[in-house]
Amino acid sequence: MTKPGVLSVAKLWPRYMQALQEVFEVHDRTHQLDPAQFATIAPRIRAIAGGGESTVGSELLAQLPALEMISIFGVGYDGVDVAAARARGVPVTNTPDVLTEEVADLGIALMLSIARRVPQADRFVRDGKWPAGPFPLTRKVSGARLGIVGLGRIGQAIADRASAFGMSIAYTTRTRREDSPYAYYPSAEALAHEVDFLMVVTPGGADTRGLINAQVLAALGSRGYLINVARGSVVDEPALVHAVTSGVIAGAALDVFADEPNVPDALRNCDNVVLTPHIASGTWETRAAMADLAFANLQAHFAGKPLLTPVP
Ligand code: NDP
Repeated sequence: MTKPGVLSVAKLWPRYMQALQEVFEVHDRTHQLDPAQFATIAPRIRAIAGGGESTVGSELLAQLPALEMISIFGVGYDGVDVAAARARGVPVTNTPDVLTEEVADLGIALMLSIARRVPQADRFVRDGKWPAGPFPLTRKVSGARLGIVGLGRIGQAIADRASAFGMSIAYTTRTRREDSPYAYYPSAEALAHEVDFLMVVTPGGADTRGLINAQVLAALGSRGYLINVARGSVVDEPALVHAVTSGVIAGAALDVFADEPNVPDALRNCDNVVLTPHIASGTWETRAAMADLAFANLQAHFAGKPLLTPVP
């Protein structure tokens, strides 16, 4: 029996790619790497396998007449034109829940890192500066005020962890969560006024583009810290650069950037930021769970079974 054709639209994790190749005829980024070849295989593509950063626009969809589903390895799917896919009757799946704890762990790690200046202190020791005097005092996290922008699966997991630090927790979402004990603010700006640490964990895409703007950063204030584990697009990056370099806010810890993997020099050269290369879900355990779920969605589809995790 011929294997169903799958187009991978990202450089997939090798373990996931291997599993796919056993069951599917995988064409790895052929649409970008070999357009002439793509024209011949496009009619056979029945599924797309992508990552959280992948772009699947209406133009690509239009070239795939036999497309039946799109499986995203990641919880964020802001690069996928879900409306265009849906209009074609093509469902989209993602990998929620299995990465929630991991991303929450990194959010907390970044908050501790910037407040206690852990990477800076590490550099201080490595650079041989300790004998000349002690490391400057830092900022206490336990008992401080945390504001969460986006109290979904990951936001809630961050709140659970922050509670164990005795932090007071508040949040903003578009729809107030009646099941939540935390203080609700109707906007990121109103929330930022009231907190020491502002943790951003919304989806990316048009709805949240630039949500954390100059006004929000001004409201966070010169003793406030921004932590972003959502998407680079959610923060107005030039406004953030200005805020961290001119004392509008105390500092920022960022896992995501506007133009990955490119990070503005102004951020890389800034001492009061902590930067990680989009690693929030990046452990062996969690990437394996994500690969299993992304693969299981494809298998379910081709077995005629219900999809495990279709996007809403
Ligand atoms: P959920 O869908 O469970 O939660 C999203 C939350 O964001 C909801 O509370 C939602 O509430 C809120 N939200 C959406 N739009 C807005 C808005 N305009 N203003 C304020 N709040 C908003 O998603 P997850 O918690 O599972 O994941 C969240 C995001 O984290 C992902 O979409 C992805 O972008 C990011 N992520 C980043 C990773 C990394 O590697 N750094 C890894 C995994 C995820 P409401 O709808 O009521 O507004």
